Amino acid sequence: MQGKILKGIAGFYYIETSDEKIYECKAKGIFRKDNIKPMVGDDVEIDIIDEEKQIGNIIRILPRRAQLLRPPVANVDQAVILFAIVKPDPNYNLLDRFLIMMRQQNLPVIICFNKQDIASEEEKQKLTESYENCGYKVLFISVKEDKGLDELKALLKGKTTTLAGPSGVGKSSLLNKLVPDADMQIGELSRKIERGKNTTRHSELFFVKELSDEGFDTFIIDTPGFTSLELRNVSVDTLMQYYPEFEDYEPECRFGGCSHIAEPDCGVKNALEKGLISKVRYDNYKLLYEELRNMRPVY
Ligand code: GDP
Ligand code: ZN
Repeated sequence: MQGKILKGIAGFYYIETSDEKIYECKAKGIFRKDNIKPMVGDDVEIDIIDEEKQIGNIIRILPRRAQLLRPPVANVDQAVILFAIVKPDPNYNLLDRFLIMMRQQNLPVIICFNKQDIASEEEKQKLTESYENCGYKVLFISVKEDKGLDELKALLKGKTTTLAGPSGVGKSSLLNKLVPDADMQIGELSRKIERGKNTTRHSELFFVKELSDEGFDTFIIDTPGFTSLELRNVSVDTLMQYYPEFEDYEPECRFGGCSHIAEPDCGVKNALEKGLISKVRYDNYKLLYEELRNMRPVY
């Protein structure tokens, strides 16, 4: 029987099969044989040990299409980063960190701003202008009033999407809309184990039935832990690669290798003054630049 790992806790894996049954499985023997550890998102083959008790054993991990390290999930196609336009105001710094992290892993990102029902036109305009030139798709939605959700759903259809965002932005509300039976899916089975352990929350996959009319093919991942995103493998010299909207103006910089921070005759800063580059993005670049500079080892 083939299935997908929705969740892993304390050596147990929760696997949904295409007939929408969930089995609690162990992975005996897999480690020894293939030397890989099953991860959330993996497509696997299982042996059903007890149909009634919904218990099985993973016997094979199917080849991974992709593997994300942060968060550790297999077979992800894209990320949706959810912020609110207001309440809470977007934390641009966190947003840029997330964009950098996902670009490092070559994962396409859709930026989604929620709560458009309580936001002004100016507030929306500011976000549009800030992020439209940086190469990401930007959507405005209201989970509460069911606005913009069709467009989002169309983008999710047939794909596995990791959903991330800071707290208070409406992530649970959105998840509830997409997966109304989320609690039912694994809840019963895993609650026993979770209660016994002091588990930190892990990524959890949900099958989005509403969007899967072609089969067992649309999943959304609830990604927890979104407070501090530490940048790794980014240096002051490579940071600008993550700001593709700077590129057009870099040839106008007087100095080759200009960092666009303090140099005179800087094309990027000129573009910023003319309003061709978003101040939100530039300010963030500067902030992250300072942070990375201070992280340099001192000899
Ligand atoms: P989470 O912390 O990201 O999971 O956010 P929740 O889903 O718990 O939502 C936080 C608060 O925002 C709740 O009071 C929701 O009712 C509210 N909320 C969620 N979506 C919307 C929206 O589209 N518009 C407005 N006005 N409020 C929303
Ligand atoms: Zn410059």
